[in-house]
Amino acid sequence: MLKMNAEVKNILKLQEEKIKSLEKEIKKLSELNSNLIRKNKYKTEFFSNISHELKTPISIILGAIQLIERKGLNPEDGRRNIKELNIIKVNCYRLLRLVNNILDMTRIDSGYVRDKLSNCNIVYLVEEITQSTVPYAEQKNITVEFDTECEEIITAVYVDKIERIILNLLSNAIKFTPEGGRITVRVSKKDKKALISVKDTGPGIPRNVQKDIFKRFYQVGTDSLNCKGSGIGLSLVKSFVELHKGSIKVISKENKGSEFIVELPIKPLQENKKDSAHTKNEYSRIVEAINIEFSDMYSPSYASTESS
Ligand code: ADP
Repeated sequence: MLKMNAEVKNILKLQEEKIKSLEKEIKKLSELNSNLIRKNKYKTEFFSNISHELKTPISIILGAIQLIERKGLNPEDGRRNIKELNIIKVNCYRLLRLVNNILDMTRIDSGYVRDKLSNCNIVYLVEEITQSTVPYAEQKNITVEFDTECEEIITAVYVDKIERIILNLLSNAIKFTPEGGRITVRVSKKDKKALISVKDTGPGIPRNVQKDIFKRFYQVGTDSLNCKGSGIGLSLVKSFVELHKGSIKVISKENKGSEFIVELPIKPLQENKKDSAHTKNEYSRIVEAINIEFSDMYSPSYASTESS
């Protein structure tokens, strides 16, 4: 009888352990399930946003073409058609930006990087990019300042990825900062790292969502600001920064503004390749990159042709 009791106790103990381990499994599976549901929700929202992002420029392009068709082309007065042609151009840039972002997202996932690392003075590169965005900021009466402690920080970078990082942070800063605000871009050096900070006086990002903004498809509710997007911008920025073995963080306070800080290791290549950001071709490439990145904002060139 005693032996039977011991056996039963043993069986019960084993079963209790089994139940405990099953409970653990159930907890894990339910966490995985909630994760999947959340990701699926982001994806559904992403497709709905993307459709909207595609539809708007396509409708605008179509509208402009129909207007040209109605008015007819006037070869004697080229300016008559410039307004519509500019609308078409800006909206093609918008489409290009979206498609580029989606392509980059898939390239990052497959680990495919086409570019080559080259030594570059990132102080000069960041300053040049910052200055080129001033006309866009001026449209909103926003002041853009560039500040640096050092003249030169040479390190190996993927130049066009650094461009995309800075342009994306600047376009967000200009997009969200209200009229009369200020944006400060600062480059500094700390230990063996280059720090690039993009600071604005915009609405700030609520503390509880700051950890999420770098996640793919994530967008803070911005309906009131009428700033729809795809929610891939910052996730791409983070991937591009990580491609350089760097890191990115945000310091932000609601109603006080946001500061994005990119940290890049300073690691020049042995062979001293030419600083590609100084050539004329590269400059026009930056201008084109700005046209694409800022395409969902009011275009300064469009403004000047409109008034002519
Ligand atoms: P998108 O690609 O749609 O522009 P992002 O990934 O760039 O989206 O940004 C994600 C979210 O982070 C945005 O929805 C926006 O609400 C918030 N955000 C990004 N930059 C700023 C900023 N400078 N100020 C306030 N909010 C910002």
